[in-house]
Amino acid sequence: MSPDVIVVGAGLAGMTAALAAEEAGADVALVDRGAIGLGTNSALSNAVFSGPISPGRADEYVDLVLRVGKQLNRVAYVRQVARESSGAVAFLQSLGLEIARIPGQWSVRSARPEVIPGVVLVRRVAELVAARSRIRAARGLYVRRLLTSPDGVFGVAGVDRGGRERTIRAPAVILACGGAGAIYSRHDNQASMMGQGYRLAAGAGLALWDMEFVQCYPIVLDEPEMPMVMIYPPYPREATLIDASGADLLKKHHLGDINQAIVRERDTFAAMLAAEAHAGSVCVDLRAVPDTSWAFHPLSLLARFRSECRSRPVRISPAVHFFMGGVQTDEEGRTSHTGLFACGEMVWGLHGANRMGGNALMECLVSGRRAGLGAARWVRAHSEDATDPVPASGETVSGEDRVDLRDLRRRLQDVAWKHAGVVRSGEGMAAGVRMVEELWHTLHRARVGTLRERILRDDLMSAAFTLRAVLTAGLGRLESRGSFLRDDYPAQDDARWLKNSRTSWDPDSDRLHVDYLPVNAA
Ligand SMILES: Cc1cc2nc3c(=O)[nH]c(=O)nc-3n(C[C@H](O)[C@H](O)[C@H](O)COP(=O)(O)OP(=O)(O)OC[C@H]3O[C@@H](n4cnc5c(N)ncnc54)[C@H](O)[C@@H]3O)c2cc1C
Repeated sequence: MSPDVIVVGAGLAGMTAALAAEEAGADVALVDRGAIGLGTNSALSNAVFSGPISPGRADEYVDLVLRVGKQLNRVAYVRQVARESSGAVAFLQSLGLEIARIPGQWSVRSARPEVIPGVVLVRRVAELVAARSRIRAARGLYVRRLLTSPDGVFGVAGVDRGGRERTIRAPAVILACGGAGAIYSRHDNQASMMGQGYRLAAGAGLALWDMEFVQCYPIVLDEPEMPMVMIYPPYPREATLIDASGADLLKKHHLGDINQAIVRERDTFAAMLAAEAHAGSVCVDLRAVPDTSWAFHPLSLLARFRSECRSRPVRISPAVHFFMGGVQTDEEGRTSHTGLFACGEMVWGLHGANRMGGNALMECLVSGRRAGLGAARWVRAHSEDATDPVPASGETVSGEDRVDLRDLRRRLQDVAWKHAGVVRSGEGMAAGVRMVEELWHTLHRARVGTLRERILRDDLMSAAFTLRAVLTAGLGRLESRGSFLRDDYPAQDDARWLKNSRTSWDPDSDRLHVDYLPVNAA
């Protein structure tokens, strides 16, 4: 039987959307290329949620989010998150997990230091999903296209683990595909996060907003034999950062300790580390950290590499962490495409030019719920209008050229890091556009045979598309703001640039068009 609602992506936003849609009476198909909950960025998270200190102090929270976002946020959406966060917190508390509180923040605790808190969180939410009889999980289904007609979306088409083409039809589809950190050579995301949702949305005619705003985190491990994991505060006070000559970087740049630098000056700290890395390797020195500190977060996550980290300084780098831009939705999670909804990281507007820590997961709960309820309501109201959909066209053809896709991935990620990374320039971004367009065309011509190759090519098409959007939107913004730093325009320019970028794709000409609209005009 066809579901009423398809949710694409089973991270925290997608699972929340599925639960809400089911609660509102819909039959739901929850689709993910991997498992439900695990394999997502939500599972990698530190499971910290931010919101107003109390419902009566929502205005304070709104002001803070706008301040961090440098006033590019969509105010109506920030207010909605502020209003609905108490319901989200109640849901979080109902999960029966251990939750630590500081004013305005809720953190899920992991009882085992080697288990990431995000894993504890998504496992529990996935249990709730599994217990709902009207949510059908489609694991291992990679969605390649939205099925659309002039009347709106009517389903999704993809490929399953056995390589079979599959279509699922439904009058409403919720995109919950997450962000695109893995298009960069340095990132702390899951390796599969390549902007698939942005490409699906743009393919359905949706504009992408503020794509130039990409948040970097200052410190991830950058050793060939170690995973590129983020090391988040609190660092033990014995931890230091050193440059290639062994000089103490925190002293050199008058930055106090690592924790303060990360919490208070994340973007400039990341930019400083990126600049230092050009001159030679930058390392964290954990040799003086006492045994006892290795039992606690964050060092407990490095247990496997403990002896190595204790014998020598290990290389670190800033890395891409989060995408602030994405698709526009209304109060019910609707996009401008009939029947198409979105939630989670791929939605634009809450964060403006920079994200406040803990707001991404709060957004997953609020936007997931509103999209699930919105989609279920929409299906009820429109069930009579269903038309006979146009049949889905088959597999997109493979090209003729032999291409080493892994090499292409490396090249693309390097272009992203070099030309759309922590600090950018007009010249660099223009060169980046030329390079990524070349890669985009190479991908179109690439011959693919195995299932793995087909999926990798699709991932890379999404990555290249997303990078084109990041660079195109960035080229026109002649200032620095929030996470977006340009060395040729180092100052924030409120007189001219209190504007959101809107990037649209014309599939016929394959051109991206960007315009900049005064804030909150949309
Ligand atoms: C290391 C790390 C720590 C973080 N810590 C925090 C924190 O403590 N607090 C906070 O607020 N934020 C944090 N964040 C950010 C936050 O985790 C993410 O923004 C959030 O989890 C995104 O959730 P989501 O549901 O939108 O997407 P995800 O959780 O990324 O899930 C998206 C899912 O969709 C699937 N998918 C995508 N495209 C397709 C397709 N075409 N077909 C099928 N499946 C598809 C993906 O494979 C993935 O499984 C952190 C991020 C990272 C990387």
